[in-house]
Amino acid sequence: MNDGCGLNTKWVEEVWPDQLSTRYEVADALHDEQTPFQAMRIVESKMFGRMLMLDGMVQTTEKDEFIYHEMMTHVPIIAHGDARKVLIIGGGDGGILREALRHDSVEKAVMVEIDQGVIDFSKRLLPTISDGAFDDPRAEIIIGDGAKFVAETQEKFDVIIVDSPDPIGPAKALFAPEFHANVAKCLTERGIMTKQNGSTWMQPGELPEAFEMIRPLYKYNAAYLFAVPTYVGGLFASLFCSQGTDPAGLDIVTLQARFNGLNDRTRYYNPGVHFGAFQLPGYVKEKLQ
Ligand code: SAM
Repeated sequence: MNDGCGLNTKWVEEVWPDQLSTRYEVADALHDEQTPFQAMRIVESKMFGRMLMLDGMVQTTEKDEFIYHEMMTHVPIIAHGDARKVLIIGGGDGGILREALRHDSVEKAVMVEIDQGVIDFSKRLLPTISDGAFDDPRAEIIIGDGAKFVAETQEKFDVIIVDSPDPIGPAKALFAPEFHANVAKCLTERGIMTKQNGSTWMQPGELPEAFEMIRPLYKYNAAYLFAVPTYVGGLFASLFCSQGTDPAGLDIVTLQARFNGLNDRTRYYNPGVHFGAFQLPGYVKEKLQ
């Protein structure tokens, strides 16, 4: 913890080496541990509430988590229209699991998370994020490497959401070509994969590199954007890849009809935001051509 300026103020810092660092004033350090996989820290930040950091990078915060978790989950599930089985790779804080289980169509949500400690401490210290999702009878939690799971499973899923950290530590495997080939194998005919692909500004190569690697695997490849205050660098990208569901083929009336089934319990996602998120600015679009 860095001692900041002022009396008794304390700060945590997210450092982008040689470029930028963001400091968050914290009231309290709640947990600090080197797990077998990563450095895990949970702090009480003054602006964003409780915050999970892994290897020094902000993963999720109580105040702005709804943006990322709604956009990573409702875009593919509503685009699919009848998602019964969902696979979440990573996602140990439980936010994606919570949002997936809001859909009555979802009969089973499998989460493959490599680090039991993230689940345990997120449940204990960040309970509003999972909000009881881990206890839902439709949830199946597997502690293991997501890359290994998709290589070995015979199961098929309608939606696969890759909620990994940045490509460091155990997450590196989730950015490799064989992982993506295996994910494509685990999707049903109209199945959809979404994958967080970093900041379009701070990690400008991540989205185009992933696009090039993954494009040959699917008929439909798209990116959609949204902004999360604690994901530094403006517009944040997710991939949307599918063999059988064209994101551009979904009109706002269809999206609205499906969204109504969600009882409007969202604070960021809505059909207009869904539709607009796929309209890319030039500086992003030009890299994907
Ligand atoms: N929303 C965050 C982001 O966009 O950076 C990710 C949050 S979630 C906490 C990331 C999770 O992926 C962590 O709990 C981490 O333990 C898990 N993870 C990393 N590598 C993994 C792997 N190979 N298999 C399964 N889970 C993995």
